[in-house]
Amino acid sequence: MEKFDVIVVGGGHAGVEAALAAARYGAAVGLVTLKPEAIGVMSCNPAIGGLGKGHLVREIDALDGAMGRAIDQAGIHFKVLNRSKGPAVRGPRAQADRKLYRTAIQRFVHEQPGLTVIAGEAADLVVADGAISGLVLADGRVLACSAIVLTTGTFLGGVIHVGGETREGGRVGEAAANALSIRLRSMGLRVGRLKTGTPPRLDGRTIDWSACEAQLGDDPLEPFSTLTERITNRQIACGITRTSVETHRIIQENLSRSAMYGGNITGRGPRYCPSIEDKITRFADRESHQIFLEPEGLDDDTVYPNGISTSLPADVQDRIVASIAGLERARITQYGYAIEYDFVDPRELSRSLECRSLPGLFLAGQINGTTGYEEAGAQGLVAGLNAARLAGGAPVIEWPRTDSYIGVMIDDLTRWGVSEPYRMFTSRAEFRLLLRADNADQRLTPQGIRFGCVSTERKQAFKKKALALAYYRSALSAISASPDEAIRHGVACNRDGVRRDGMALLALRGVECTDLTGLSATLVDCPPAIAELLKTEAHYAVYLDRQRADIARIEQDRQSLLPEDFDYHAQGGLSGELRTKLASIRPRNLSEAAEIEGMTPSALLLLSMLVRRQSDNGRLAG
Ligand code: FAD
Repeated sequence: MEKFDVIVVGGGHAGVEAALAAARYGAAVGLVTLKPEAIGVMSCNPAIGGLGKGHLVREIDALDGAMGRAIDQAGIHFKVLNRSKGPAVRGPRAQADRKLYRTAIQRFVHEQPGLTVIAGEAADLVVADGAISGLVLADGRVLACSAIVLTTGTFLGGVIHVGGETREGGRVGEAAANALSIRLRSMGLRVGRLKTGTPPRLDGRTIDWSACEAQLGDDPLEPFSTLTERITNRQIACGITRTSVETHRIIQENLSRSAMYGGNITGRGPRYCPSIEDKITRFADRESHQIFLEPEGLDDDTVYPNGISTSLPADVQDRIVASIAGLERARITQYGYAIEYDFVDPRELSRSLECRSLPGLFLAGQINGTTGYEEAGAQGLVAGLNAARLAGGAPVIEWPRTDSYIGVMIDDLTRWGVSEPYRMFTSRAEFRLLLRADNADQRLTPQGIRFGCVSTERKQAFKKKALALAYYRSALSAISASPDEAIRHGVACNRDGVRRDGMALLALRGVECTDLTGLSATLVDCPPAIAELLKTEAHYAVYLDRQRADIARIEQDRQSLLPEDFDYHAQGGLSGELRTKLASIRPRNLSEAAEIEGMTPSALLLLSMLVRRQSDNGRLAG
């Protein structure tokens, strides 16, 4: 019998990061997947990143995952979303050449020592003494292991819908996986149904691009990975068009024929990535919705019309497309469809992503109720690393939500579960000024090195950057300029008599590192990436210190007792729902309060301040 430390089931975005992370840790890893040639396939949109999602990609990269480097090798249109807003909410995004992305991911998988790819369908789990000990494949092969990571995406009990037609499938052209779904249900795990959809694909040669607005990518380009020096692919523009009144009329008249609306699908769909049927129903007053026409590759004529995901029948899809400016004569090469699939309630998992009821079984990706490549990849990395650590006898790692978006997502999932596909947003992170995309490596690479998932190449690159940062930071702190001196060197500042160091000057609006070279010659050769990071740090310094102090306060107060007679109803800063819950549950301390459903770090912070105030009052009264 073949034996591995860790077996990963699934070669999607979660599975790849899980297998690579486990192998980087040093485990012998088997990656079992239905179609090895489909490893790294993008099931839906040919793009990586976006608001909140871009942060996850940078965090995956900081922990030495593959996604950031793969999109840098495959990207054909890079754009930082929200660029005009503060660095904390900017979202790096890039459209990919699908083939180049898959090739890059497959190269990482094949070049990773300790990782073996096995073609097959996982059908059953082998359990010995109450823990995972192996995996049974549908063809009867049995593989021994100490831990399994399931990353089966939309394949468990997958059913594809186009209008009234339904068929089993994991995604178009691939079979569903049912045996494993039956096994998970038989274990008593809470399993539910969710749905998602994809738009029709178009032949770009039949689009009238002159009727569409052209959208160019950024220049210069910002890579995702700190290991990428330069993006070398040719960059392309994408087109923008809009749905018309006629489009909405066609959809409205045919709503009853939509799989989503005709009653065929019971699972809930992604609210933040809605179908066009959803959009015209929910936003009935809008006369038009934007559509991005995204080419799927440099030598591929397929175009992904981002914004018209649908499960209407084929004849209606033809009419919808023909009613859109520029697409009047566009040919559909593959019809849009909806897919309904099983997911496991993530409250079955601990924050290491291990199943509470079956040691050694880890779950990651869409199977946990999330949607999106980035959410899947980030969970995969955590589950794979933890599976390898468990197999090697090391303690598993849990990322707190105060350190990373990865921590925020896993905390949300395992604490609250999901009622619709979960996707990441910057608004989910309470401490987002600290958790920026630009400082992901500073936050997480040292942890990755400590936990054993970072390769030598990244360790060295990180060390080099850390030395450079320390060098230029110390140059900045060595500056001590009076307002007159600063002004004499071209730095506009108030004549308030206060001497400022370099960071304080950098915090002033419009001041860049290059403006301070008259005050410190060392800064002359400060690399632009380091200069930008220092500028952001300076800009946020006051808030960052405050957020760090808030986090420290919550940690410090965790065991502080909450008075039994505390009047929660009188605390206006808490939501009505939380006041009621706190008053009825009456947690003994902040740790217990943190476990209450709906509790947020900001509410905890408020409780911690209230407790402190009450105890100060008590001391004063005493
Ligand atoms: P997947 O990428 O689906 O990978 C699953 C892997 O598991 C595959 O390699 C499969 O072969 C393998 N597998 C499954 N069962 C078995 C088994 N029993 N044995 C062996 N191997 C197995 N995301 C968005 O963000 N927005 C969208 O609009 C969107 N629309 C989508 C529309 C469709 C039709 C589909 C299919 C997906 C859509 N997604 C969308 C989701 C996105 O594709 C997923 O979130 C992402 O791919 C999940 O990654 P994953 O690794 O969890 O699963």
